Amino acid sequence: MPEAPKIATLEVSDQSLVEKNKSKLQFIEEVTSNADDVQRRVLEEILSRNADVEYLKRHGLEGRTDRDTFKHVMPVITYEDIQTEINRIANGDKSQILCSNPISEFLTSSGTSGGERKLMPTIEEELDRRSLLYSLLMPVMDQFVPGLDKGKGMYFLFIKSESKTPGGLPARPVLTSYYKSSHFKNRPYDPYTNYTSPNQTILCPDSYQSMYSQMLCGLCQHKEVLRVGAVFASGFIRAIKFLEKHWPELARDIRSGTLNSEITDPSVREAVGEILKPDPKLADFVESECRKSSWHGIITRLWPNTKYVDVIVTGTMSQYIPTLDYYSNGLPLVCTMYASSECYFGVNLRPLCKPSEVSYTLIPTMAYFEFLPVHRNSGVTSSISLPKALTEKEQQELVDLADVKLGQEYELVVTTYAGLYRYRVGDVLRVAGFKNNAPQFSFICRKNVALSIDADKTDEVELQNAVKNAVTHLVPFDATLSEYTSYADTSSIPGHYVLFWELCMNGNTPIPPSVFEDCCLTIEESLNSVYRQGRVSDRSIGPLEIKIVESGTFDKLMDYAISLGASINQYKTPRCVKFAPIIELLNNRVVDSYFSPKCPKWIPGHKQWGSN
Ligand code: AMP
Repeated sequence: MPEAPKIATLEVSDQSLVEKNKSKLQFIEEVTSNADDVQRRVLEEILSRNADVEYLKRHGLEGRTDRDTFKHVMPVITYEDIQTEINRIANGDKSQILCSNPISEFLTSSGTSGGERKLMPTIEEELDRRSLLYSLLMPVMDQFVPGLDKGKGMYFLFIKSESKTPGGLPARPVLTSYYKSSHFKNRPYDPYTNYTSPNQTILCPDSYQSMYSQMLCGLCQHKEVLRVGAVFASGFIRAIKFLEKHWPELARDIRSGTLNSEITDPSVREAVGEILKPDPKLADFVESECRKSSWHGIITRLWPNTKYVDVIVTGTMSQYIPTLDYYSNGLPLVCTMYASSECYFGVNLRPLCKPSEVSYTLIPTMAYFEFLPVHRNSGVTSSISLPKALTEKEQQELVDLADVKLGQEYELVVTTYAGLYRYRVGDVLRVAGFKNNAPQFSFICRKNVALSIDADKTDEVELQNAVKNAVTHLVPFDATLSEYTSYADTSSIPGHYVLFWELCMNGNTPIPPSVFEDCCLTIEESLNSVYRQGRVSDRSIGPLEIKIVESGTFDKLMDYAISLGASINQYKTPRCVKFAPIIELLNNRVVDSYFSPKCPKWIPGHKQWGSN
C-alpha cells in the first residue's frame, strides 16, 4: 500500500474522533443546560409508556404524567415494597406488572435483602442508556489527557456467575450483563475501547484463568498501555497482588511464548496465542522489576507510559487510596462514573481532580431523579437503625434535580424506564456544585453500611444478628459478650472484617481457641451472600478475625468518645469504627486473636431457587 492513503485515512479517523468527542461534549452541555426540562420529559415518557402497568394503575395514577400528580399519588419505596411484584416476574408472570416493555433480565445488586442480592428488573433498551453513559467518559477525559486514542487501556474486567429465575430470566450482575451483551462483545473498533484484554479473557467464567490471561496480555503489550484500571479500587489492587504472586509463571510464558497449561479454556488460549510471542527481553525486564524487594511504583515501572489509574475510589473504596498511591507512584486516580444496577447515574466532568473532590454530574436523560433531604447524625456514636417507611410529610420533602441546594445532603430516589418508581437507591449524596443547571454530587455513603471490603455491604443489623448467632458458642463456658465493635481491615490484601470482643467470664473453664474459631465461622455463615461470594468465589475478602480485648476496653472507648464531644447520655457503643486513633486504642488492648478456619458456605445462584 502506498503511504499517502494510509496517512489520509488516519487523518480522517482522527478528524472523526474529534467530531465525535465534540458531539458528546455538546450533548452534556445541552442536557445539563436544560436539566429540568429534560427531567420533565423523561418522567412524561416513562409514565405515558407505562400508563397501563398494574403497579401504576393500582396506585391510581390513571395515565397522568405530570410531576405533581406523580408525587402526590405514588409512594416512595424500598425494595421490600415491590418484593411481591419482583417475585411474580421472577416466577414467570409476563403480564405488565411494573413495566410495559418485557423485563429482559434481572440485575443482581450488591445491596441485599434478607441476605440475598436484590433483583433489579431491566429492559433491553437500558443497554443503550448504559452505553451512552460509557460513551461520554473518554470525550471528557480527552479534554484533560489528549492522545489516549494512540494506545491501549489495561483494564481488569470480570464476569461473575449467573443463574436463571424459575421463570427463565437471567439473573446476574450488571457488568456481567454488559460484558456479555453485543454492545460490548461486538463493539466496532474504537480507539477508546481498545483494551489489552481480549474479550475472551474477560468473558472467561474461571476467575483465575481470566485474571492470569488478562495480566499476561497486559504485560505483553506493556509499552502500548496509556491507562490502567478496574471498576473498583479493590479489584485493581487484587490484580497487582495476583502479579506479586504469579510473576514467575507469567515471565516464563513470555520467555517461551507458550501459555501456562493451567489455562485450559480453549477460547482464552486462542485469543492469548494471538498476542503472546517469545520475548526473552521482556521476560528479563518483568523478572528484574518484580524481583526487587520494593513494589513502590510497580505500575509505572512495568507500564511506563501509563498516565492514570482509572478506578472508583469514592465511598468505601477511599480506604484503598494509600495502597494505590504506593503502587502507582502517585499517578492520578481517576473516578469516571457513578452507576448501579438500578440505573447508571452520572459522570465526573473533572476526572483529574483529587479523589476527595470528586463529584458526579447526574445525566438527566438516564432516569427521573428525586432527592430526599438527609440530616445525618455526626460524631462518633451510632446506633442500629432499621429501614423505615417515610411519613406523609417526609414524602413531600423530596425535591427535583434542578431544585437541590448547594452543600445539602440527599438520599437518591429514582424512577427508571425499567419499572422502578420513586425507588430509594440507598446512597447519600452531597451537592458540590453545578454544571450549567445540573447539580454535581459528591458521594457521601451508602446508608446503613457498616463494613465493606469489596462489593460487600454489611449493615449493623446483619452484623448484630451474626454476632448473636455466634455467641451461642460461648454459652457452655458461662461466658457472655459484654461489648463489641468492628472494622474493615484493609492493611493487608485481601482485606478482612475484624471484630473486637470484650467478654464477661462468669465461669472458670477456659475457652479453647476452636470455640472462637467456630464463632468466626458462624458470623461468616450468617452474613449475606455477597460477603460469602467474596470469601468463596472471588477470594476478595480474607478470613474474618475476632480480637479479644482486655476487660475495661470499651469503657476506655467511651471515655475517648466523650473527650471528643460525644454526649454521655446519648453514648452508644459504635458497632463499627473507622477513626484511626480508636482502632489503635482497641488494638493496644488485644489479648488474643482468632481467624475463621475455613470459608463459609456459598452456592452460585439465588438461595430461593437453590443452586443451578
Ligand atoms: P450495584 O447495584 O451492586 O452495582 O452497586 C451500586 C452501588 O455501588 C451504588 O448504589 C453505590 O453505593 C456504589 N457505587 C457505584 N458507583 C460508585 C462511585 N463512583 N462512588 C462510590 N460508590 C459507588
